[in-house]
Amino acid sequence: MKGLLKMPPIYVTQPYLPPLEEFIPYLQTIWNSKILTNGGPFHDQLEKALCDYLGVKHLALFTNGTIALVTALQALRITGEVITTPYSFVATSHSLLWNGIQPVFVDIDPVTLNLDPAKIEAAITPRTTAIMPVHCYGHPCDVARIQKIADNYGLRVIYDAAHAFGVQTEDGSVLNHGDLSVLSFHATKVFNTFEGGAIICPDSKTKQRIDHLKNFGFVDETTVVAPGINGKMCEFNAALGLLQLKYIDQALVCRQKIDILYRERLKTVDGIQCLNAVGEKVANHAYFPILVRPDYPLSRDALFQKLRDCGIYARRYFYPLISDFPMYRGAPSAAPSNLPVAKKIAEQVICLPIYPALGSEVVDQIVSLIAGNRA
Ligand SMILES: *Cc1c(COP(=O)(O)O)cnc(C)c1O
Repeated sequence: MKGLLKMPPIYVTQPYLPPLEEFIPYLQTIWNSKILTNGGPFHDQLEKALCDYLGVKHLALFTNGTIALVTALQALRITGEVITTPYSFVATSHSLLWNGIQPVFVDIDPVTLNLDPAKIEAAITPRTTAIMPVHCYGHPCDVARIQKIADNYGLRVIYDAAHAFGVQTEDGSVLNHGDLSVLSFHATKVFNTFEGGAIICPDSKTKQRIDHLKNFGFVDETTVVAPGINGKMCEFNAALGLLQLKYIDQALVCRQKIDILYRERLKTVDGIQCLNAVGEKVANHAYFPILVRPDYPLSRDALFQKLRDCGIYARRYFYPLISDFPMYRGAPSAAPSNLPVAKKIAEQVICLPIYPALGSEVVDQIVSLIAGNRA
C-alpha cells in the first residue's frame, strides 16, 4: 500500500495519443490550406478510412457521439416512445429527450447486460416507433432477435454503439446491424479524436440526409430542409483520427493482454465475477467490468473506496441507472420493480482500469488489493 500511495493516480482509462511529432505535419497542412471545417479533406479521408477499417458501407463524422445520437433519431423521424436500456451512459436517453421522445426502459439480460430481447415486446405500445439498444462494454446485443421484433412490429432500430468500435461478430462488423449505429470518439473511448463521433448507415441516401442535418439542414447554398444542428467534425479532430488509425491495432492488442491478465489473476478471488465475452469474434476490450457478489468480504462500495484510497480510480459504470436520474425516474417504466436485473448489476459493478499503457505490474497490484493480501 505504501508503494501504491506514491504512484501517480491510476484512472479507469487513459487516452491513447500518437507521437506528437507525427501530428505536426497534419497541422502544417491545415495551416497552409486554411480549411478548418465543413467537410474538409481530412474529414472526407477519415470517413473513407473508417469505412475500410470498420467494414461498413457509409459513415458520417460528427463533433461528438451525443449530437450523432440526436441526429440519428431525427434522420429517421423517430417520435413517440422508444424502447431503451437503463444500463448505459446517460447520453443514450438524453438523445431521446432532446427529440421530445419518451424513453421506455426495459430490463437487461443478466449475462450480456444488454437490453433483454425477451422483455421488449411487452413494452411496445401504439406510440412505440423504435428500439435504441446499447452494445454495453462493446459486447454485442442479440441483434438477430432484436431485428426480428422490429420487423414484426414495424419499428426502427438505432444502436448506441459508443463502446463497440472495431467489434466483430460471425458476420462481420457489429455496426452493420439495425437501421443506424452511432459511435463515440470521446477521449475515454477505444478510438479517440479528442471529441468526436459518427453515424454508420447502410445507404448513400440516408448518409446524405444525415450530412444535411449535421450542417444546419443546408442542402445547397440557399436551401434549408430541416432544423439541423451544427454537428460537423472539424479538420483538427479528423486529422488526429487519421493518425490514430495507424496505431489502433497496436492499442487493441495491448488491451487484450491486460484483459487476459486480469481474468487469469482474478480467477481465484472468491466473490469477484468477470464478465464473459458473448458472441464477439473480435472484441475491443473497451472496459474491464467486474461484479462484486454478496460472497465477497467487502461491499461493492467498500471495495471501490479501498481502491480509491490507494490511488486506483475505478468507476461504477453504470451506477446509478439512467432510470434513477430525476428527469427519468417519474416514468412507470423507470420503477425499480420493472428493472430488477439492471438494479442488481448496478449495485455490484466496478470497471477496473484498462488502457494500452497500463503496466502488468499495476494490474498485479490492483488484483492484490482486490484479493485482500494488501490491506
Ligand atoms: C460515451 C458515450 C456516449 C456519448 O458520446 P460522446 O462522444 O461523449 O458525446 C453515448 N453513449 C454511450 C453508451 C457512451 O458510452
